[in-house]
Amino acid sequence: MTERIVNFSAGPGALPLPVLQEAQANLVSLPGVGASALEVSHRGAWFLGVIEEAEANLRALLDIPSSHRVLFIQGGATMQFSMVAMNLPRSGQRHADYVVSGTWGAKALAEAVRAGPTRLAWTDKDEGYTRVPGTEELLESIDADPAYVHVTTNETIQGVEYPDTPIVPDRIPLVADGSSDFLSRPIDIGRYAVLYAGAQKNAGPAGVTVAIVREDVLARVPDRVPTMLDYRTYADHESLYNTPPVFSIYVLMLVTRWLRDEIGGLEAMLEQNRAKAAMVYDLLDTLPDIYRGHADRDSRSLMNVTFRLPTEDLERRFVAEADAAGMVGLKGHRSVGGIRASIYNAMPLAGVERLTAFMRAFASAT
Ligand code: PMP
Repeated sequence: MTERIVNFSAGPGALPLPVLQEAQANLVSLPGVGASALEVSHRGAWFLGVIEEAEANLRALLDIPSSHRVLFIQGGATMQFSMVAMNLPRSGQRHADYVVSGTWGAKALAEAVRAGPTRLAWTDKDEGYTRVPGTEELLESIDADPAYVHVTTNETIQGVEYPDTPIVPDRIPLVADGSSDFLSRPIDIGRYAVLYAGAQKNAGPAGVTVAIVREDVLARVPDRVPTMLDYRTYADHESLYNTPPVFSIYVLMLVTRWLRDEIGGLEAMLEQNRAKAAMVYDLLDTLPDIYRGHADRDSRSLMNVTFRLPTEDLERRFVAEADAAGMVGLKGHRSVGGIRASIYNAMPLAGVERLTAFMRAFASAT
């Protein structure tokens, strides 16, 4: 087989090898179809079966209640920043409350401002985005009656994640950007009015975004939202109003099958993700003179481990030497620098072991 690197990319990120192999085996001719997934109608029986299974697998994995619809949308999580702001009404000039624990939350807020009254409810921007608010802190920071509260469950750039589903009072619609920890752990979907996630970290390739939307949100979409930005268009047409990203949804379906059959569900996935993340964080804690973790302990991301070395020169050497040793994607986001190891679902424990062995050797040689 072709040699594969250990892929620490933040997204698009590594996909499970069996998924790639199945997509490859069927690329030219799907069994029973005789054509590629890249060249069949989205209204044909094969794809209707695929999108149905994708939804059924997501429902089973996340235990999605019947009160919520599962929608497949293009435009990335970035377009969801706008769709959320346009679909959830801010009647009576009520504002939307945004909790900003990193770069993506800030971007979501910037889009919401364009659509209506918005308030920054909480941020630790001045402290460098190192944590999420605690439960009490979150409750105190939000308003009595906002149109909705928006959070980012995992900030991909800073490596800051909520340890559990954030809690707001039931009467307030909770909206989350769950892009970079989607399917990495069980979540309490019932608490969300909307949870959206770009697929390209844990769920599949780029090109499709999953939005899980509660029925009462659909019932209150304001008039005159453009058709393709209106959640109801997707809900009323089973995400087939126009041509969906067929291949991306196909691969997403294979990933959900892998999670179900090979991993055994999201509890099992979380256990693996905890074990992988603990290996890296333990190492950071053991060698604080050379590796300085970015996130506060209680907000450490299981998906994106971010840390600094004493100098930028050393960081450059770290990335270059890791690269030469077959470990790529470790350079931190260009806006923050440092090192980021993205260890999504598809990163095997052996990949993390290679990274920590490398980090130990690098520390001794420095
Ligand atoms: N939100 C989060 C948490 C992300 O990690 C990303 C992508 N890295 C985005 C939003 C933007 O996603 P997209 O590129 O799919 O628009």
